[in-house]
Amino acid sequence: MAAIVLKTKEEIELMRESALIVSKTLGMLAAEIKPGITTLKLDKLAEAFIRDHKAEPGFLGLYDFPNTLCMSPNAQVVHGIPNDTPLKEGDIISIDCGALKNGFYGDHAYTFEVGEILPEVKKLLEVTKVSLYKGIETFRAGNRLGDMGYAIQNHCEKEGYGVVRELVGHGLGQIMHEGPEVPNYGKRGKGKKFQEGMVLAIEPMINEGTHRIKQLKDGWTILTADGKASAHFEHNVALVDGKPELLSTFQYIYGALGIKSEEELPYRKEPLLV
Ligand code: MG
Ligand code: MG
Repeated sequence: MAAIVLKTKEEIELMRESALIVSKTLGMLAAEIKPGITTLKLDKLAEAFIRDHKAEPGFLGLYDFPNTLCMSPNAQVVHGIPNDTPLKEGDIISIDCGALKNGFYGDHAYTFEVGEILPEVKKLLEVTKVSLYKGIETFRAGNRLGDMGYAIQNHCEKEGYGVVRELVGHGLGQIMHEGPEVPNYGKRGKGKKFQEGMVLAIEPMINEGTHRIKQLKDGWTILTADGKASAHFEHNVALVDGKPELLSTFQYIYGALGIKSEEELPYRKEPLLV
């Protein structure tokens, strides 16, 4: 894992721009996701959209990843490769997207519902998303990485869910994966102290069943060991004036889906006009 690089306020503004390109891309995709569409089609739409916004796809070619989006349906946790299989009613699809602009990366993810999904899977998505905000809430001066990991883990394990151990969040900046590693599990009061100017990609990966995972022979796709569903939500957050400030937003997604949510308000200086 690369070094921790603290950002100036000017750099954080550039990172907000990169993050918002990803947010808008996910919002564009939200309107396209329906039974019958393929993940490869969504990938092509995303690539064109990012380039139209004078940015580069952040994942394409990174560690030789072949596409713009990581597309991980159902039991896939992360790093799924887009393909020709149409999405079907009842699927969930984690879409992770990166964009590079002005030398800085944005990187965040949302797990979408395809049509009507099972209530128990809906609950997994809700709990995972809430755990992301529980983690963000701890990103404050004086706290430590273990406080964040504990908050996420405690919220999810209470529901009997498995917290993936092998994959973690990360620092974000001019390199996609900067330090520190940001585990979704941990002990309160342990680990590195948060510092002003840190920018983190916080990304709980939570399984309906066991926390154990396996990898497909494609060398990329991570899936649950028991074949049960997995959810993944990711935000980009800066530590500014001792407090967490969201650089990314799900409001473009919510706009496309007709959802009203105030979940981001505590972590934003000004209301976001979408
Ligand atoms: Mg990501
Ligand atoms: Mg990430």
